[in-house]
Amino acid sequence: MNKHVLVIGGGTAGITAALGLADSGFRVYLIEKEAAIGGQVASFCCKATEVCTKCSVCLIPQKLSEVATHPRISILTNSTVMGVAGEVGNFQVEVWQKPQYIDSERCIACGLCAEVCPAEPQAICSPSPEAVPLSYILDESRCLRFKGEDCNLCYEKCPVNAIDLDRGAKRQELSVGAIIVATGFEVFDAREVGPLGYGRYPNVLTGLDLEKIFSHEGSLRLPSNGKEPQKVAFIQCVGSRNEEHCYCSQVCCKYAMRFAQLIKYQNPDAEVTIFYIDLQNAGKGFVDFYEGCKETVRFIRGVPVEILENPSGALEVRFENIVGGKIDRETFNLVVLSVGIVPRKDSWDLARVLGINLDDHGFFDARSPIDSNKTNVEGIFLAGACHGPKDIPDSIAHGISAAEKATEVLQRCKSR
Ligand SMILES: Cc1cc2nc3c(=O)[nH]c(=O)nc-3n(C[C@H](O)[C@H](O)[C@H](O)COP(=O)(O)OP(=O)(O)OC[C@H]3O[C@@H](n4cnc5c(N)ncnc54)[C@H](O)[C@@H]3O)c2cc1C
Repeated sequence: MNKHVLVIGGGTAGITAALGLADSGFRVYLIEKEAAIGGQVASFCCKATEVCTKCSVCLIPQKLSEVATHPRISILTNSTVMGVAGEVGNFQVEVWQKPQYIDSERCIACGLCAEVCPAEPQAICSPSPEAVPLSYILDESRCLRFKGEDCNLCYEKCPVNAIDLDRGAKRQELSVGAIIVATGFEVFDAREVGPLGYGRYPNVLTGLDLEKIFSHEGSLRLPSNGKEPQKVAFIQCVGSRNEEHCYCSQVCCKYAMRFAQLIKYQNPDAEVTIFYIDLQNAGKGFVDFYEGCKETVRFIRGVPVEILENPSGALEVRFENIVGGKIDRETFNLVVLSVGIVPRKDSWDLARVLGINLDDHGFFDARSPIDSNKTNVEGIFLAGACHGPKDIPDSIAHGISAAEKATEVLQRCKSR
């Protein structure tokens, strides 16, 4: 039996599948397109108030450090799968790794290279403190040497010889018995809904922006003037349940309610309103959470159609009040667009390389509605939100079941 498995995508689902397989004795290659693993959740915040609100973000750091130190997991960052041949039990996979000018296995994240970098803006970027691997990254589009200048300062300063500016891209051929696709999703681009003003008005943010702001700053300030917002609106279903993305993203109502509670917890005087079409409050304990939320947060069943910024910077939200049956308007300091989950634009490329199908929305398609891990190619499985919207617990569960299915199929290959 080929005891090697390829996992494509190092987000919640991919790291869970990798750990499941490695703990069962398989050798795992974890391929990640970006410079660090963790996926979307790596930039998310804990949404606890005086109590835990069970957002599950805290489940990820522990898994990341387990993956980073697991003796049977090899992490290949900045890497993509370019070709696959063979069949279940014996796939040959061609992987390309972008040039690793700073070797992540050697880098000790001391920052001396960044200190001496003379480029404006700096070509050497520091990793987030939780990044796995914890390594500085060189952006060749900013680096003076790549612009033809004779600069070697970072190379000369590095105390561990981690920098090699002449390093090229690396091609590797891997032989694996099974493949797990865990490439996740993209967040809907709120600029596509022009009348809501995202990208034009500084105080219109998205749910993803809020995740990053709370994760970095710990609290919320108005981007325009740094003051604490007193009147905040959330607009649900931005990019979900419309003509192009007719499904529910399943995570937005929950993150919006958790953020609403967190904002009220940090500033009890703030007024928070959630505009919704209908609320997705399924899940154990969430009905009670919603009932608790209603005590401090206002819910308006209505669809905001336009946001206008007045000269003082306040945001006038015009909305169709479904219950009142009329068009209303109200002014807020800050508006958060609860953007949903959409398929990655590059899913088609990977689908073509692997020979697997996409569904009508553009997510990877499962072979059967009762087995959402299996694809149309035997030995290739799906895990997480690349198959469709999922929250963290569901992505973890999907990653675990993908690892189990891969184990089963490899054991069957052995006994043939
Ligand atoms: C704004 C927002 C807030 C959210 N808040 C919460 C919350 O509070 N609680 C909760 O439970 N859920 C939340 N979610 C849902 C959560 O983000 C998902 O459940 C989770 O990210 C899914 O993990 P994943 O591994 O499937 O995908 P991802 O997190 O997208 O990870 C996929 C990984 O694959 C990599 N990749 C992509 N393509 C390739 C390729 N071709 N080759 C190699 N690597 C590739 C990516 O770089 C990425 O690292 C939220 C979602 C959004 C949009």
